[in-house]
Amino acid sequence: MANAIYTALPTTIFTVMSGLAREREAINLGQGFPDEPGPLAIRQAAAEAVLNGNNQYPPMPGISELREAVAHHYARHQGLDLDWKSEITVTSGATEALACAFLALIEPGDEVVLFQPLYDAYLPMVRRAGGVARLATLTPPHWRFDRGMLEKVFSDRTRLVVLNNPLNPTATAFSEADLALLAEFCVRHDAIAVCDEVWEQVVFGNAVHRPLIAFPGMRERCVKIGSAGKMFALTGWKVGFLCAAPALTEVIAKAHQFLTFTTPPNLQSAVAWGLGNSEDWFRTMPADLAASRDRLAEGLRREGFSVLPSQATYFLNVDLTASEVTIGDMDFCLRAVREAGVAAIPVSAFYEEDPVTTVIRLCFSKRDATLDEGARRLARARDLCR
Ligand code: PMP
Ligand code: GLN
Repeated sequence: MANAIYTALPTTIFTVMSGLAREREAINLGQGFPDEPGPLAIRQAAAEAVLNGNNQYPPMPGISELREAVAHHYARHQGLDLDWKSEITVTSGATEALACAFLALIEPGDEVVLFQPLYDAYLPMVRRAGGVARLATLTPPHWRFDRGMLEKVFSDRTRLVVLNNPLNPTATAFSEADLALLAEFCVRHDAIAVCDEVWEQVVFGNAVHRPLIAFPGMRERCVKIGSAGKMFALTGWKVGFLCAAPALTEVIAKAHQFLTFTTPPNLQSAVAWGLGNSEDWFRTMPADLAASRDRLAEGLRREGFSVLPSQATYFLNVDLTASEVTIGDMDFCLRAVREAGVAAIPVSAFYEEDPVTTVIRLCFSKRDATLDEGARRLARARDLCR
């Protein structure tokens, strides 16, 4: 018999919705990816590296240019002081970094604190590594945790806490006070935080991304994970960064050496080039995305939808109940893609238990015409459901 955890798993909601969107030739506001091809200069750097650079195995922890560039980037943007030689590993996307961290840090029976809504990869990987999930549930409109919630899920068996900040799908960035509270619990329970910060660069307006690793007591107990795919709107590239104190890096790199061993060297050099030459991009990309977010939000409001605030990520959420949609999010999304030609993601798919079933997630990293037509089609879907 195959492994029970994977046998019981459904196909991810992103693949299901993108499949339906293709089948119905629908507008796809579901799975999160931009419809622009990504910065030309970085793609040219990759092409150049394929033609004239190294195409054989790079060093296992990543090429030195990229590890140095990652350390510089986080020093400049987040005030962190990371030693590229002993604290940075390049992985094949954030997904591999997460797998490495879970495999290397969890002993069977260890408790792992996670927050719902959950990015869909976390739970199966944590459980496959032997972890016992302790779930705290966040709900709209604020999607925040508090002391009482943490007290219920932390125990003397807590080994890890998994934090996604900024949070996909809620599009929120955790506040300084909330992160300080979480750090306090990590220190008190001697727990390690695995911080999925892939959206750290996609933060809008006055919202600020604060890395948990910078909080008191966290420098030695934090695994910070980033993704070039999100930083540079090249989601298919799968180049991730894993940053942690030397003792953690050493053991996590042992998982990496037998998961993928390395990541394509040409993409690594292009990302290294990008990190060194993209200060303009890091300013304009969030501003351009914020304009797309506002355009979709306005289009939806004009059609009578109730839109939740979006501080970060490629996503904004719609409150179905407040938008006079009386069916659940999954039913609404299935009818929207099949009958109105627009795909969205039901937020209940990010919950393991007691799901919020009244919110859908929409991806706005799309051209204006796509966003405008998407809003119109969602209105048609709502009218069909009345
Ligand atoms: N974590 C989160 C929260 C994500 O949203 C994503 C992808 N959108 C990933 C991890 C995966 O990142 P990568 O493509 O670099 O593996
Ligand atoms: N992270 C992307 C999203 O949230 C999807 C990535 C995937 O399809 N695995 O839409």
